[in-house]
Amino acid sequence: MEFNRYKKYDLHCHSIASDGELTPAELVRYAHGCGVEVLALTDHDVTAGYAEAADEANRLGLEFVSGVEISVSWGKQLLHIVGLNFDVENAALQAGLSGLRHQRTGRAKEMASRLAKLGIDGALVGAQAYVNGQILSRTHFARFLLDNGHVKTMQAAFDRYLGDGKKAYVASEWIPLAQAVEWIHSAGGHAVIAHPARYRLSATKLRWLFDEFKQLGGAGLEVISGRQDINVTKNMADYAKKYELRASIGSDYHGPSQAWSNMGKMPPLPEACEPIWELWQG
Ligand code: AMP
Ligand code: MN
Ligand code: MN
Ligand code: MN
Repeated sequence: MEFNRYKKYDLHCHSIASDGELTPAELVRYAHGCGVEVLALTDHDVTAGYAEAADEANRLGLEFVSGVEISVSWGKQLLHIVGLNFDVENAALQAGLSGLRHQRTGRAKEMASRLAKLGIDGALVGAQAYVNGQILSRTHFARFLLDNGHVKTMQAAFDRYLGDGKKAYVASEWIPLAQAVEWIHSAGGHAVIAHPARYRLSATKLRWLFDEFKQLGGAGLEVISGRQDINVTKNMADYAKKYELRASIGSDYHGPSQAWSNMGKMPPLPEACEPIWELWQG
């Protein structure tokens, strides 16, 4: 494979294997139509979409890289760590991801019982009806709440019920940062901090995070995530340089109904960044 700076990369997106709206093949076709040349499918805690997406990418002549977005607890903070370019068959990684999916089931039951106490019945079965893959996510609950008239928008479902600290939010102990990095490494991949600006961490906490991540052998951070302000991009590019972390780029596209991000619309990484894909040559 040839990875160079001038190609169009999207190394973060979702299919129906997690909480996206398109099948893996549809997603690849959409990405191709948007001009993406190198794509990674990074479903939450699952790689079940890999084979279908890889086949379609192969058919279209689009470079396809394996990916996953792992749920991590960093103290009380939920973090998302993206793994890229690893062996999807790796047993340690797959056992770990399977444990996370199992945990999601328990959390979903608890969320449903909180919603029931708020007068919203049937949320577990309701949310499950939107699941096409092996994971049950808050996005599926949000769709249930929206389609049953409990909220007017997906955003409102998170603002009122599902967002961190909201009425039906269930704090979950995912896995430690070190564990996620270790699984990714054991499968031969590179670990990347997803959408670092979205956690709204203070500058001090961000520095702690980058420090710890670098010490664990983490490879990079998403300098560009979806549609973000140019100042955020500059800030993240500075952090990447300071902590000697590689830069990644991903839309975090979930499907046509989610307006906050789209494929093929992101600017290229700032020139000063060292792109993550330079580690993949050969
Ligand atoms: P989970 O992994 O089950 O905790 O669900 C997290 C997912 O919910 C994220 O990956 C997003 O796709 C979605 N999400 C989180 N916050 C929002 C929001 N404010 N509006 C819409 N979707 C959101
Ligand atoms: Mn998601
Ligand atoms: Mn995420
Ligand atoms: Mn994502």
